[in-house]
Parts: sequence; structure tokens; C-alpha cells
Amino acid sequence: EAIKREVIGKFKELSELRNRVSDEMLILLNKIDNIEQLIDFIITQVVSDIVIRQEFLGIESLKKRLNRLLIELNKEIGVLTVEKRIQGRVKQQIEKNQKEYYLHEQAKAIQQELGDEDLNDWEILSQKIKKAKMPKEAELKAMGELKKLKLMPPMSSDSAIVRSYLDHLIGLPWCKSTKVNIDLNKAEKILNKDHYGLDKIKDRIIEFLAVQKRVNNNKSPILCFVGPPGVGKTSLGESIAKSVGRKYIRIALGGLHDESEIRGHRKTYVGSMPGKILQNITRVGVNNPLFLLDEIDKLGTHHRGDPASALLEVLDPEQNHSFVDNYTETPFDLSQVMFIATANSLNIPSPLKDRMEIIFLSGYTEQEKLKIAEQYLLPKQIKNTGLKPNEISIDSETILSIIRFHTMEAGVRELDRKLNKLCRKIVKLIDTNKFKKITVNSESLIEFLGPEINNFNFKINENKVGRVNGLAWTEVGGDILHIEVVSIIGKGNIIRTGKLGDVMLESIQTAISLVRSRTEALGIDERFYETNDIHVHVPEAATPKDGPSAGIAMVTAIASSLNHIPIKSDVAMTGEVTLYGDVLAIGGLKEKLLAALRGKIKTVIIPKRNIKDLEEIPVEIKGALNIVLVSTIDEVLEVAFEYKPKQFVNNKKVSIDDRKSVNVYNPNPLI
Ligand code: ADP
Repeated sequence: EAIKREVIGKFKELSELRNRVSDEMLILLNKIDNIEQLIDFIITQVVSDIVIRQEFLGIESLKKRLNRLLIELNKEIGVLTVEKRIQGRVKQQIEKNQKEYYLHEQAKAIQQELGDEDLNDWEILSQKIKKAKMPKEAELKAMGELKKLKLMPPMSSDSAIVRSYLDHLIGLPWCKSTKVNIDLNKAEKILNKDHYGLDKIKDRIIEFLAVQKRVNNNKSPILCFVGPPGVGKTSLGESIAKSVGRKYIRIALGGLHDESEIRGHRKTYVGSMPGKILQNITRVGVNNPLFLLDEIDKLGTHHRGDPASALLEVLDPEQNHSFVDNYTETPFDLSQVMFIATANSLNIPSPLKDRMEIIFLSGYTEQEKLKIAEQYLLPKQIKNTGLKPNEISIDSETILSIIRFHTMEAGVRELDRKLNKLCRKIVKLIDTNKFKKITVNSESLIEFLGPEINNFNFKINENKVGRVNGLAWTEVGGDILHIEVVSIIGKGNIIRTGKLGDVMLESIQTAISLVRSRTEALGIDERFYETNDIHVHVPEAATPKDGPSAGIAMVTAIASSLNHIPIKSDVAMTGEVTLYGDVLAIGGLKEKLLAALRGKIKTVIIPKRNIKDLEEIPVEIKGALNIVLVSTIDEVLEVAFEYKPKQFVNNKKVSIDDRKSVNVYNPNPLI
């Protein structure tokens, strides 16, 4: 029974291996009760060899026959299992080959269906690469990328990345340039045509171009125009490009704080791009444009790298012939590019500043603004707004009123906007009312431009104790800085308000010590610092203020608050002061004088050490102001105080004129 069961089990296993187990057969097998018949049935199913079948017939013992059948079954099962294994392997291999073959065929069919373009595309790309005349290194890189591209499935994102990279390489103007022709006379003409005045600056530009013409390499320093907004820095750059026949690109660097904006992203990043330099070069399609780097002083720094150092590489003639953008990965020659920078202040990272030649542009006087408005801005706005020149009539007096009462700036940008507004309104008036011509005069200005702006550049009309007009120089031009000091009964505290910077705070300290060191001559009780608190305030408290040039103004205001002598309100002053009362030179003289003029100041006190700067100040400014040059603080006070102080001797004030009679030694006589 045991062998019988074993045999039946093995038979079933074999049948399964042969994939030939039909339900009927199993039913049949179960129905056979006679063991002899069962063996015979199985033998017919398992053994096909006649000789072995014969052998079975010869075995009489049932047990032996069963054992023999078991051997035969095991043999057959063994063979079949090996066969199956081999079959499996072969099948797998065939399946894989078939799949690849099938897919390739399908891809080919799809490409054929799309037309021959794609197949040829690679050919075209390769030709484009050759035509782009890249340097060897770049060409090898491009060809390598092309090879990669061919192996990639065409619709994958990787292939799109490689594709746009190749397009970028091909699009770069490796060898294309505009013909630079420096004709100095023509350049001068263009500069004069586009800009009024600025004679010195134009001269310097022409010199620069003359040298470039001779030397024909771009190793000369980079020009950097520094000045308040709206004085024509950007438009000068544009004119230079025009006058030498270079294409013009302006990059605004204000607020740019990511190095990759200059140098590009690695192309492994999603959405990566080349930096602004190469992007713009590709856009204009030549390798020798003029780049105007606008507002280079507003470059920010950030954790994502320092754009200034990237710029340094771009601007350095020793390095920029092989500028490597992170995206391009291969050097591009920038040595033919001409760079010009602009800035509002000298607050430029010093390595960058070293590479540049700074040219200062100062604000315009009223007369200059008037000329610019009449000759350049108004005709431009008339054209821009579609007015006909005979439809508007405006005289110089009215334009001066716009300058005086509707703008408050060192440059002419606001003026430009106001003229635009005026022209716009006139166009509307003419079109709606069918007027022929509109005459604008000072009275009708308010109608067109709105109320006059509150001129905070005002002077205060009343002589006051402790209040003085300082002159400040800021990025947006000069300004009048009202400094106010009061001394109140207290314990010697110094209070300082108005968002003052460190240097200004220190100059207040210096001023107080200076006043303390000469109390007698100033007519001040020498123990004032024990009995008074001094509060120094600079209004417009929200605007940060700094610098040492308010030194003499601080001394004047503090001294006045202590000896109660009013300060003349039509006097303004600027100058740094030392502890010994010497007055040191200051910067931004023209801007400060312009601000004084705008603020209707009559007398301006400036350091004698600035005398050389006066040469450059237009006569119309010098003529309109009474400029007093001083070298010591005593001279300042003499001009600024309403009357002379009385000396303070033995706890009582003595008129300075009585000095001789009391016979006091005065080391620094005021008068
Ligand atoms: P900035 O770059 O110094 O801020 P812009 O170059 O933008 O100033 O100048 C502002 C506007 O003023 C421009 O339309 C420019 O043409 C005009 N402008 C400035 N200075 C002059 C000038 N000297 N002559 C003619 N137009 C000028």
C-alpha cells in the first residue's frame, strides 16, 4: 500500500511537470481499484520505450514491478525538471532579446513617422556646433554632450537639459563681434548731442577712447561714474556705446545678492541658467558689447556667495579672457567686452574699486537744469507724448518754477517726469477741448502739476539759539541739515537723537570737549557740564546721518545753547573740527553749495582746506553765495553768531571788548 501510494504521488507530480494532468485522468486513476490494472495504466502513461515495457511484462512480483515503476518515475521526473530549468533560462533570454528588439523597432518606426527631421537633427546639431567656431575645448565638450544626447530617450528630461545646454553653447557668440570703430570727433559729437555740459567728464571719456584706439586692448581701467541719481550716468554709458559702435547692455546690480546671477547655476540644477553676463552676450549676439553695470554700490552679499567677487573676475583683464560660467562649464573670452560702472556713492567693495577709475558727476545748478530741460528733456517729452512743438508754449521762467517748486533733486530725473506729466496733460486738454495751443505759465503750473512740493530744503527764517544750518552730502545730492541743541538744567548728561551714526556721535563728543576747553572765551560757565544736560537733535529723525563734516556746526550749536547767542539763520556751514579747533576739509562741496543755494542760504562757511575744490565750482554758484573760508573754529563762530560772546571771568560775563580792562589772558582770542 505504501509503495502504491508513493507511485501514485510521483505519477501526479510527473503529470504536473508534463502539464498534462487532465481532471478525467485523475478521476480514472481513482476509479481503478485493481492494483495490477493501476500499474499497467501508469506504465502506459509513463514509459514509451517498448523494450522497457516488455521488461515490465516480464516481472511477475507485484512488489518488484512497483519498485521498478518508482525508479522509472523518478528518472522521468529528474529529466523533466532539468529540462524545465533549461527551458526557463532560454525563455528568459529570448524574452529579453525580443523586448529590446521590439522596442528599438518601435522607436525607429516612431521617428520615421515623425519625419526624417529628428534623425537629421543630430546631424544638424553637429554642423551647428562646428559652425559656431568654438574654441577646441568647448567644441570637444559640445560633441561629447551630443554623443550623450543621441543615446538618451528623446522625451526624457535629461535629454531636454542636454539639448538646451547645447543650444546655449551654440548660441554664444564665440567669434562674432561688431566692428569697433573709434572716431574721436564722431564720439565727441554724439556725446555733445546727447548731453548738455559735463565738459570735464566728456573730455575724460574722449581721452579714454583715444587711448583705447591706440592700444587696442581692453586692459585700461574700467570707468565708474559716481554721482547722485538723474545726473546722466546711465545715459552717458549708452552714448559711449553709440559713439564707438558697440552694442549696449545694461545690468542693474541693485539688490543683486546671489553669485549665480553673475556666474550662472550648475546645469545639474533644475531650471539652471547661465549668469547675466553670458545671457546678455547671447542676447546681443556679439562678444564685444558695452556692459553698463548700473548701481555697482548696491551689490548685496548673501550666504549664497558674494556677487562682488564674481564681478571681480569678470572685470579683471588678467582673468576675464577665460571667464567660466557655472552653467557653460567652459571658458568664454570676455576680454573684448567694454565695461562701465555707475554708482551713487563710493561705498563699493574695495577690490572692485581698485579696478575702476572713478569719475565724479555732481548735481546740476538751476541754470544747468534749465538748459537741459529746454534743450533735451522738453523736446524729448514733446516727442514722446505725440505733441506738436507748436501746440505748447512755455518760457524759461516757467521751467525755472518747475525746477524750483516742483522738484527737489540733484539730477534731472524728477524734472523729466514733471515735464512728461505736463505734456501728457496738455495732450489731453488739446484733444478734449479742441484747443490749438496751450501756453503754460507759472500760475497755471499748479493746475498741471499739482501743489508745489513742500520744500524741506528750507532755511529757517529766524535766528535762534542752539539751531544751526549744517550742510550734508548724501547719495541723492546735497541737503541742509538743521542741527538743534538745547541745554537744560541737569547733571551733565549728553542726549543725542536723530538716528546719528558713530562718526557723528563722536564728533558731538569732540565738539563738547572743544567747547569745554574754551568756555572762558565763549562766555560760558566752565562748570556747565555739571549743571546742564545737553540734548543734540538732528531732525528728520528717520533718516540715518553720519560723517564728520558736521563738526563745526555741532560746536556752533552747542556753544550757542550754552552762551545763549542766536545763530544767524541765513548762514550754513560744513567742516570737520579737531579738538584744537582746526577746521579740516570735507567732501561733496559742490553738492553742498547747491543745496545751500536751493535753500536760499546767503553765507556758507567752508574749510579753507577746500579752496582747491572751489576752482571747479561754477561761477554762478560762487557768485550767488557769500563763501567764507575758515581754518579755525573761532572764525566760524565769528561769522555765525549774531553778536560776539562776552568772556566769562570769575563767574560773571564780561564783554570781550572789556577784555583789556580786566586783563585776562585769552589763548584763542575770538576777535
Ligand atoms: P543716472 O543714471 O545718473 O541716475 P540717467 O542717466 O538715468 O541718470 O538720467 C536721467 C535722465 O536725465 C535721462 O533721460 C538723461 O538723458 C537726462 N540727463 C541727465 N543729464 C543730462 C544732461 N547733461 N544733458 C541731457 N540730458 C541729461
